[in-house]
Amino acid sequence: MLVKPKLGISQCLLGDLVRYDGQHKRDQRLIEALDSLVSWVPVCPEVECGLSVPREPMHLVGDVSRVRLVTKKDAVDLTDQLLAWCDRRVEQLGHEKLAGFVFKSRSPSCGLLAVPVCDPAGHAQTVGQGLFAKALTSRFPELLVAEDEELHAPDELKSFIKRLLD
Ligand code: SF4
Repeated sequence: MLVKPKLGISQCLLGDLVRYDGQHKRDQRLIEALDSLVSWVPVCPEVECGLSVPREPMHLVGDVSRVRLVTKKDAVDLTDQLLAWCDRRVEQLGHEKLAGFVFKSRSPSCGLLAVPVCDPAGHAQTVGQGLFAKALTSRFPELLVAEDEELHAPDELKSFIKRLLD
């Protein structure tokens, strides 16, 4: 029997109600293209590290080399909580033998490429990586990774699937 590759994914992209506002970000086109080809491994860093649904939205704050994950209204610093969970979960995902991971773009936890990094007043100053995306890709630099939005381009999606199945 053919064993499908395991593909990690930010859980909200599958349609699960894990976002800060109690909603999801199901990516129908992406799911339809990949659903029959892979075995999904959903991960929601914010829920898995112990935060509730709904929860206060958060953003990255500070120096891009040492960003902090802070709630937008009450300025609660969740960095240590999320990073402690990352240490455990990234090692677990290593045992899962993932073939790749699709991250939710612009999330302070999951964004891979261009997550706003703000000053304490909430104004974006530069861009960085979400804490989980950074932890996973630092630990497994060879892992095939992409963001949901880049896979909306048909050529990018085709190339991603080809590399996933090779
Ligand atoms: S972007 Fe990541 S942390 Fe945010 S709801 Fe989706 S899976 Fe959870």
